[in-house]
This record gives sequence, C-alpha cells and structure tokens, in this order.
Amino acid sequence: MSEDSAEKVVVIGSGPAGWTAAIYAARANLSPLVFEGRPKQSPSLELPGGQLMLTTEVENYPGFSEGVDGPAMMLEFRKQAERFDTRIRTEDIVKVDFSQRPFSLTPDEGEPSKAHAVIVATGAMANWLGLPNEQRLAQSGGGVSACAICDGALPIFRGKVLVVFGGGDSAMEESTYLSKFASKVHVIHRRDQLRASKTMQQRVFDNPKIEIVWDTVGVDILGDDKVTGVRLRNVKTDEERTLDCQGVFMAIGHTPNTAFLEGQLELDKKKYIKLTDPFHTCTSVEGVFAAGDVADSVYRQAVTAAGMGCKAAIDAERWLAAKGVE
Ligand code: NAP
Repeated sequence: MSEDSAEKVVVIGSGPAGWTAAIYAARANLSPLVFEGRPKQSPSLELPGGQLMLTTEVENYPGFSEGVDGPAMMLEFRKQAERFDTRIRTEDIVKVDFSQRPFSLTPDEGEPSKAHAVIVATGAMANWLGLPNEQRLAQSGGGVSACAICDGALPIFRGKVLVVFGGGDSAMEESTYLSKFASKVHVIHRRDQLRASKTMQQRVFDNPKIEIVWDTVGVDILGDDKVTGVRLRNVKTDEERTLDCQGVFMAIGHTPNTAFLEGQLELDKKKYIKLTDPFHTCTSVEGVFAAGDVADSVYRQAVTAAGMGCKAAIDAERWLAAKGVE
C-alpha cells in the first residue's frame, strides 16, 4: 500500500469517544475510517458501541431529559458519524505498528490499513464475577449492573436492598452513592480488609445504611426476571447463605482494551494508555491520540468519553495540519 493511499485518520473503537472523534474528524474533512470492532460471543466482554451497549437506560447524558436506551444512543452516535461520511469497518484491530509512518493497522480479517494519525478509543471492560446468572440478569435489565453511577438512580433500585461486590475505592464510592437511594447496601468483600483508601473506607463505616460482609464471595445471583437475592459463601467457614436483595452492582475493577498496543504505546501500570499532557489527548507516539475509558481510569462516563473524543479529533486535525496532511 503506498503512502498516498494512507488514511488521514483512523479511529479504533466505537463507544461515545470513538463516534464523537469520528463526527468531529469528518466535519473537519478528514474523511475518517472507524474500525468499530466485532460483536463478541459473550456480550459482557465487548460489543461495537462499547459499554453503553450493556446499559439499559442512560439518565445522566445531558440532552435526554427522559433518559435514553444505551444501545439506541450508540446507534444515534453511529448514524451521526455516517451522516458526515465516516467510513466504518466492522472488524477488530489486532495489531498496530506505530514505529513507521504512515502507521499500519492490522484487522482480524480484511485488508490492513495505513494511517497518518490514529485515535485509539477502545474503552475498558468492567470486570464481572462470572456467576452463573449474572449476565442473563444484567442483559435483561433485571437489576445487575457494573456501573452504579450509570444505573443506581433508576427507579428499580430506589428504596431497595442492594448489594455491591468489591473492596476498593469504586466499591466504597458506589455503595456510598447507592445509599442515597437504597434502603440498605451490603458490600460483599472477599477478604477481612478493604483495599480502598482510608478516607473512603471511613465514609462507608460512618454510613448507617451500609454494611460490609467480610470474607465472603458470590456463588450466584437469584431471580427469574428480576434479582431477588444473592447466594453467598463465607471463605473462612465455607458456609453458604442467601441474602435477599433487589439489585447487584459489580465494583471489582476494570480492564482497559489495550492488549493490542503492548510495546507500541506507553501504558501505565494498570495498562491504561498514558497521556503525555493532561490538557490534550497525545500519547507517547506523535500522531497517535487516545480518548475515553482506554485512557481514563478515573471518570469513565459516557459524557467525559465523548468530550475526550472531541478533543482527540481536534488534536489530530491540528497535528495533521502542522505536518501538511490535509
Ligand atoms: P481496585 O482498586 O482494583 O479494587 C478492586 C476490588 O475488587 C478489590 O477489593 C478486589 O479484592 C476486588 N476484586 C477483584 N476481583 C475480584 C473477584 N474476582 N472476586 C471478588 N472480589 C474481587 O478497583 P477499583 O475499586 O475500581 O479502583 C480502580 C482505581 O481507581 C484505583 O486506583 C482506585 O483508587 C481508583 N478510584 C478512585 C476513586 C476516588 O478516589 N474517588 C474512586 C474509584 C476508583 P482484593 O482487595 O481482595 O484484591
């Protein structure tokens, strides 16, 4: 493939960050190509459209006063990108070579692609426990979620008994947040010590609505259409019991989708892409930009991801202009 046939900008990923980057890049006449990824067998792992494809209702994205269905919202993002002549390939990028210019990108099937600039927006996956009925109840909107900030304020959880799995800062933050709506929150932790920072722990200890269940792991989530309880096992006594509840939240960490970037881009110790400047989306390789959860372990919101996608497209546009690629 000759250098002339190289794309001006390729976007990898199709969540709020990827589509927003594509919309901005397309409107800047950069004719972006988006590798949107391929649906995986287990929807809990990855879908084109990112984590919002697993969310039932999004109530905190500004502009939707009545809330919006997550997958429907991603379809709108995609349609908006297409309206401005974004080209889309439903393939996964499995390998990149950022050591030569133009960069080369290898999909799992189909022709490799060359690009002068690349925006990585492949997101992060919430970790799940892998309990037998977890995904069934998560995908049916039955009351299992991996994002309390996204879903916790939904009517099905208000005034209810809720369970949060995890012992880190996310579990503390999410149980504290949920306690505003729930009648009671049980934090289930597998050890007798929390991983969370002391301040966050103290906030939980001081909250009369939150109870920590120590040394305990999940065995299954119970319920036909809606969650009715969790089956738990104490790891010290091996005793099993059922705890009645109406909602279950996973807060056991996230894994950024960066495996295909190993050795090509600088990653932090948790494998998130390192940004070289907090006000821009530049990575350790000039001409490669990153947006959304793949470079943000802190906020992880659809609206912050979309904002970063916008920044990445503007950063790429300016960088390409400075290099004379227009
Ligand atoms: P984390 O710190 O990695 O904690 C994950 C928790 O889940 C740990 O308590 C871990 O147990 C538990 N866990 C992991 N896998 C499990 C499994 N298979 N079964 C049962 N339990 C499991 O993740 P995080 O809480 O999402 O935090 C990620 C990063 O973001 C951290 O650096 C955190 O400080 C930061 N953060 C900060 C804030 C804030 O400051 N406001 C809020 C949220 C997150 P073990 O402890 O036994 O390993």
